[in-house]
Amino acid sequence: MEAALRHRVLELAARAIEQRLNADRSDYAGPIRPCACGQRARYAGRRSKRFTTVLGDLTLERAYYHCAGCGQGTSPRDQALGLAGTTLSPAVTRLVGAVGAVVSFAEGSALLHELAGVRVDPTVVEHTAEALGQTIAVDDQTSVAPEPPAAPTLYLGLDGTGIPMRKAELADRPGKQADGSAKTREVKLCTVWSAEARAADGTPMRDAGSVTYSAAIESVASRDTDATPAAFTHRVLREAARRGFAQVARRVVLGDGAAWIWNLADEHFPDALQVVDLFHAKEHLHDVATAIYGPSSSLGRRWVERRATALVTGAFPALLRALARPARAHPAAQQCLEYFQRNRSRMRYPAFRAAGLCTSTGVVEAGCKVAIGTRLKRAGMHWTLRGANAIIALRCCRLSGRFEGFWERRAEAQRAA
Ligand SMILES: [Zn+2]
Repeated sequence: MEAALRHRVLELAARAIEQRLNADRSDYAGPIRPCACGQRARYAGRRSKRFTTVLGDLTLERAYYHCAGCGQGTSPRDQALGLAGTTLSPAVTRLVGAVGAVVSFAEGSALLHELAGVRVDPTVVEHTAEALGQTIAVDDQTSVAPEPPAAPTLYLGLDGTGIPMRKAELADRPGKQADGSAKTREVKLCTVWSAEARAADGTPMRDAGSVTYSAAIESVASRDTDATPAAFTHRVLREAARRGFAQVARRVVLGDGAAWIWNLADEHFPDALQVVDLFHAKEHLHDVATAIYGPSSSLGRRWVERRATALVTGAFPALLRALARPARAHPAAQQCLEYFQRNRSRMRYPAFRAAGLCTSTGVVEAGCKVAIGTRLKRAGMHWTLRGANAIIALRCCRLSGRFEGFWERRAEAQRAA
């Protein structure tokens, strides 16, 4: 359809709906109506408000009630149409959530106009996407039913990645900058997936559509006096419970070498197999090669290839010997040596492979890039804690295929209200 014709048709539909709703005065609920605060709100006439919908802007005249007790105004029609406290229709709110999860708020505003003909200011996109993300974060914690386990073996991956924050959000936080200050805060990510699929050579592959993500800037450290686990630990337990991690025959926890990951696994999933993601182990070898041979040297590449082969074929003594020599001169090699010694039992790759386990996926690392990096680490972005956690919740919800379920619960709650 021609853009101009499409615009005209939508315009006619918008005016028809506007007329019909404004002629219908059944939203008048008498002179007095109970207010949410517990007091009574009085009818204050019909008032008009402009809403943004997928058809274009609608100006609705609605019965309006005002509560002198709490100072709040409400309109029964707004509540019935899912428009309470917003100027966006539920469908537009959903579109805003979809674009706000993947691109910057300014780009999202432009996309909404280009693809849906809807004009929403970038600041409204920001405000709406963040509010939606916060609602999703709360919904995630409160009203989520466990799913049946997807496969006999489930993998739970843990990782962290830094995102750039606004200065005010970093005051007094120690960091890695030269003056001891911080520029970033760590987002911690939990992913769960299955890998029953096999590549042509029999290597286990991550099952398409099996990956779910849950992440936030949250702490794993809890003081000895705390009765409840720290926020991120709580998140991991929630995600594990949601995916039926405890019910499956085989549980695997994957991560890099970070101590918090294995502490969490030891404490909360004591019978899960611990595996260092091969992707991370190889990254450490690359760091050593760079320290010894400099960046992008062919000698360095050959060194990494030989060490990586030793690693995957279980030639651990040879690997440790090859690291012990440069360790005397290069701190990076010394660190790597200690890392391999410390995590040796988590790097029994030949045994893991023989057991049909997935170890070299980079799923967790990719998860950090997909779920966090591509949206939150873009040039010039600086986040508030609140804003980052809201957008992370929104992204994880969409990437995990949980957006639809969220809207169903939300619509149900609205119908019940
Ligand atoms: Zn009130």
